[in-house]
Amino acid sequence: MNLDQYIRDIPDFPKPGILFKDIMPLLADPKAFRHSIKLLAEIYKTRKIDAIAAAEARGFLFAAPLALELEKPLVPLRKPGKLPYRTYSLKYELEYGSAELQMHTDGIQIHDRVLLIDDVLATGGTMKAGASLIEQAGGVVDSCAFLIELTFLQGRQKLQGYEVFSLLKY
Ligand code: AMP
Repeated sequence: MNLDQYIRDIPDFPKPGILFKDIMPLLADPKAFRHSIKLLAEIYKTRKIDAIAAAEARGFLFAAPLALELEKPLVPLRKPGKLPYRTYSLKYELEYGSAELQMHTDGIQIHDRVLLIDDVLATGGTMKAGASLIEQAGGVVDSCAFLIELTFLQGRQKLQGYEVFSLLKY
């Protein structure tokens, strides 16, 4: 199955000059959505992973089914003011604007190996912040996985030192 046909290009969203990769057609097709999760599960089922973490909001859409498929704990990384317990926090720059991510201080255990998931790797800022949060909490970033990688933005460079995988490259 070619997942590429389920990704819709939206020019100039959310700002002029940004070509937005819209994953909603993939989510709208259960067979294609399941296929994307199965592909990720195949890659990571043999690795020693203790938890799966993802940044809101679209990262959750892939991390949650993958966590169920691999039977691993799910660790949400959220925008400020959303998490009720004590948090670690990190500010970072986006392709369009700046943002901050938080996670519960007990989201993972010391030395846990964490698989980080997001829908799109653009500049890599979000994933870098997520990886730093995991490390603040005493965890180890096993790998960073994406549905889509926008190679021309060279997000991989920002993630040097981490293992990076993407299902689709543009
Ligand atoms: P970045 O931190 O620059 O790698 O941006 C990654 C986050 O922003 C991801 O969570 C994506 O959901 C979103 N994002 C950035 N650029 C795009 C794009 N061109 N199309 C779709 N989503 C994007």
